[in-house]
Amino acid sequence: MTKVHNFSAGPGILPAEVLKEASEACINFENLNLSLLEISHRSKNYEKVMDEARSLVKELFEVGDAHEVLYLGGGASLQFAMVPYNLLRENGTAAYVNTGVWASKAIKEAKIIGTTKVIASSEDKKFTYVPKGYEIPADADYLHITSNNTIYGTQMKSFPKSPIPLVCDMSSDIFSRKVNAKDFDLIYAGAQKNMGPAGSTMVMVKKEALGKTGRNMLSMLDYQVHIKGGSMYNTPPVFPIYVTMLTLKWLKKNGGISWIENLNQQKADAIYNEIDRNSMFHGTTAIEDRSFMNVCFLMNKPELEPEFDKFWKEANISGIRGHRDVGGYRASLYNALPLESVNVLVEVMKAFEKKFA
Ligand SMILES: *Cc1c(COP(=O)(O)O)cnc(C)c1O
Repeated sequence: MTKVHNFSAGPGILPAEVLKEASEACINFENLNLSLLEISHRSKNYEKVMDEARSLVKELFEVGDAHEVLYLGGGASLQFAMVPYNLLRENGTAAYVNTGVWASKAIKEAKIIGTTKVIASSEDKKFTYVPKGYEIPADADYLHITSNNTIYGTQMKSFPKSPIPLVCDMSSDIFSRKVNAKDFDLIYAGAQKNMGPAGSTMVMVKKEALGKTGRNMLSMLDYQVHIKGGSMYNTPPVFPIYVTMLTLKWLKKNGGISWIENLNQQKADAIYNEIDRNSMFHGTTAIEDRSFMNVCFLMNKPELEPEFDKFWKEANISGIRGHRDVGGYRASLYNALPLESVNVLVEVMKAFEKKFA
């Protein structure tokens, strides 16, 4: 198989050894002579998978028993609704920071559930920066933020000191860097960006934050029901959870968060340095808010895009066309992407400049 340098924004790259082990489990899981896909989720073998997938999150986040970890269906998008449904009191207010398309979608759902205030936004500059220095209303039920804005390539380098429960959509930078997870009442992430394949969403929630809304809760949308069921109230997405577990194990085995943070920094430095040096390209966001996960850049002469496309395709690079809202290019540097792939892209950008500048 030709080695492809996969910069896809999501679903994103997974470690090759994880894909290999997952493919074997599809045929013969743990020498049962059965596929992982055809055994009960309540079997001993699968319960072990679920336990490990949950405990690895706590271990990597360094949290204790105050938090619970769930794997749910419905994508991060369902969490846009479940968060206010579980945390926003009937007469309460929720506070949101609007940093892009995903945050806007979360706000849209919260407004249907209850009173929702947008306390800061970067919409005035097409979401090319992260708002800072805003006032957090002390009487709101929670503050919702998005740690990394996948489409625009901006990232919160530090988190607001919040006097109220802090909720974060970490879909596209979870486990890419050290965060003080204990400071958050709820963290959620669709697995398909940086944790595993599509089909399951990780939710880590502080137990004491729940059960306060006064709402008569639908079972499937109630975190407490899922906690009580050990994340198996109904049949969970067994395969995505298994692959997520393998990916987290891979991360831990290689050195955990400090290892990956260092590697991600090297990858981001390599490509941003080239964007800033190369006369053919420019970055799209405020420099201090540049994402280490999704690197957006534009061509100074957009008419040369078809020529550049030939260059990177020739080098077996895949998935760097920008999101339709931003255009140009977006290189996603998720955990499983090796530094070598970034170096290949940098060489392609250099060669392109040599020919066309
Ligand atoms: C991709 C993404 C989502 C949406 O995830 P789904 O699992 O497709 O619902 C939400 N938030 C962020 C930050 C994302 O990158």
